[in-house]
Amino acid sequence: MGLEFTTGRLADTVSWARKYSLFQYPFVTACCGMEFMAVWGPRFDIARFGAEFPRFSPRQADLLMVVGTITERQAPILKRIYEQICEPKWVVSFGVCASSGGFYQNYSVTPGIDLVIPVDVYIPGCPPTPEQILDALVMLQKKIQDRDTWSQRNYEIQEWTKKQAEGTLAKR
Ligand code: SF4
Repeated sequence: MGLEFTTGRLADTVSWARKYSLFQYPFVTACCGMEFMAVWGPRFDIARFGAEFPRFSPRQADLLMVVGTITERQAPILKRIYEQICEPKWVVSFGVCASSGGFYQNYSVTPGIDLVIPVDVYIPGCPPTPEQILDALVMLQKKIQDRDTWSQRNYEIQEWTKKQAEGTLAKR
């Protein structure tokens, strides 16, 4: 019980640190990029949320921000980039095009990036406003703190499965 309590507190502290040090990989393909750029300026100031440093290598990032239309040809590239980001990692789908294909109802556009990679937060709108982006960021931070993202849940399931196989699951 004591050990469980200590590791639980430690996990909370680590999640707290993670949520305020987000390193974004901006996968920007289309017009949503204009609104995305607005949040980096002094008016909206994304630095207040600890997420101001973009990283252009997936190996140095933990937040994949998918901004704009994703075509069927780009989808495998997006998946590759997602796989190159170290765990734990988070994904935000920015705008209706990334989330559902938007108004491009044709053969060449992926009708939602969640067909390719898991998404933690969706931002609606065409394009979304900077306020919506900040709102989504706060929502993501809450999910990280609660360990409720795809990546964190997947890790916990793996740990649980491993402990169950080893017979070391704590008795409640
Ligand atoms: S959601 Fe609208 S603004 Fe964003 S990429 Fe699609 S068409 Fe452009």
